[in-house]
Amino acid sequence: MSDDDVVQYVIIGGGLAAARAVEGIREHDREGAITVVSAEPHVPYERPPLSKDVLQGKAEADVAFTHPEGWYRAQGVTLLLGKAATAISVDDRTVTLADGTVLPWDRLLLATGSVVRRLDVPGGDLPGVTYLRTMDDSLALLERLRNGGDVVVVGAGWIGLEVAAAARQHGCTVTIIEPTAAPLLAVMGERIGTWFADFHVAHGVKLLLGTGVSGFSGTHHVTGVQTDAGETIAAQTVVVGVGIRPSTELAETAGVAIDNGVVTEAALRTSIAGIWAAGDVANWESTLLGRHVRVEHWANANDSGLAAGRSMAGIDVTYDPVPFFFSDQYDAGLEYAGYVPRDTDSELVVRGDTAGNEFMAFWVVPEGDGVRVLAGMHVNVWDTIDAVQALIRERTVVSREKLADPSVPLGELA
Ligand SMILES: Cc1cc2nc3c(=O)[nH]c(=O)nc-3n(C[C@H](O)[C@H](O)[C@H](O)COP(=O)(O)OP(=O)(O)OC[C@H]3O[C@@H](n4cnc5c(N)ncnc54)[C@H](O)[C@@H]3O)c2cc1C
Repeated sequence: MSDDDVVQYVIIGGGLAAARAVEGIREHDREGAITVVSAEPHVPYERPPLSKDVLQGKAEADVAFTHPEGWYRAQGVTLLLGKAATAISVDDRTVTLADGTVLPWDRLLLATGSVVRRLDVPGGDLPGVTYLRTMDDSLALLERLRNGGDVVVVGAGWIGLEVAAAARQHGCTVTIIEPTAAPLLAVMGERIGTWFADFHVAHGVKLLLGTGVSGFSGTHHVTGVQTDAGETIAAQTVVVGVGIRPSTELAETAGVAIDNGVVTEAALRTSIAGIWAAGDVANWESTLLGRHVRVEHWANANDSGLAAGRSMAGIDVTYDPVPFFFSDQYDAGLEYAGYVPRDTDSELVVRGDTAGNEFMAFWVVPEGDGVRVLAGMHVNVWDTIDAVQALIRERTVVSREKLADPSVPLGELA
């Protein structure tokens, strides 16, 4: 411990997990010194509004700040913004920043999140080929969308679909290029993936499925996107949304165990005493699911950040949620809970009216004389996700027919 005998907490990250960790620490330790180090120039913020209200021009960027700057001052937190941490020494218990500053730590949190995967094809560096991860990315893209024109979205994942919806709302012409047979195919499967495809087509999006991108054309600025099929699609703006990877470079300097992110146990402790991880970067041990999982979603950053902060302050914590995420596209709001391992052959049960854009979908496996729900999602059927989470957590065996029947309240099954 340092000379003045208070615990030195250092949190690396400027996202939601970092902000919540401060809360978790302060709930139980009012005295410890907390420093938050973020490579970004902004106070910690959450990202969902960046592809929704902010990108649609309906809200100012500051809606994304988890707390205003004054809150950190009131909590006695030192914010070091616009400063990347470059190396962690476990022997010296220090972290070095890019500007040479060396900070001592007794307890350190890795909340370094994710970075976007880049598309390495000819023309990929042309101006107008953009990515969306940060607040600055969102504001720059908003200006582009406000100018209208032809927008090509590469990748029909969550970010790609939300950007497409925002671009349509700005009146842009939108083409999505996706190499698989349907949007979100790996998570949703073909039937629900096709619902997303139809939903976007109904809002005027052109979808090119089963086609990759071979390059971008243009001299000083992107003018087109070349597909594997040999087509060139006109574009003044391209948004690439082909996934993210956990930001583990700093963790590697500490020597913590890394396997699809930073490996932690259920209290979010890494393999090195005194170092915790939370949010997108953490691959945590889920007792509920009986495996390690890494989740790249808001609720996980929110809840694991808080749990890690408590754990760092010495509280006994077991982080064990049912994974959850949400999305908003046009007039559809959806929530998804659960986890279907990639190697599991699940079946789909649909409740409600997909054509009317008001339905639920369940990914189930047969068990006993019925089925067990691994994951469930609703589109515009609100106040149902708690019951879905209860079914998953309790491993309830339910009748397939009742699950599919909208007249049977889900709460009754749970
Ligand atoms: C545009 C967008 C929309 C989204 N919408 C949804 C949604 O609708 N629903 C949903 O469930 N999820 C959504 N997500 C996902 C969700 O936002 C993430 O899961 C969440 O941001 C993860 O939070 P985090 O704190 O773990 O990491 P991040 O938010 O990635 O923050 C990590 C921070 O650490 C900083 N950092 C990294 N390395 C260093 C270093 N060495 N030194 C200093 N700082 C460093 C980074 O600069 C960054 O500020 C969205 C994500 C994006 C990008």
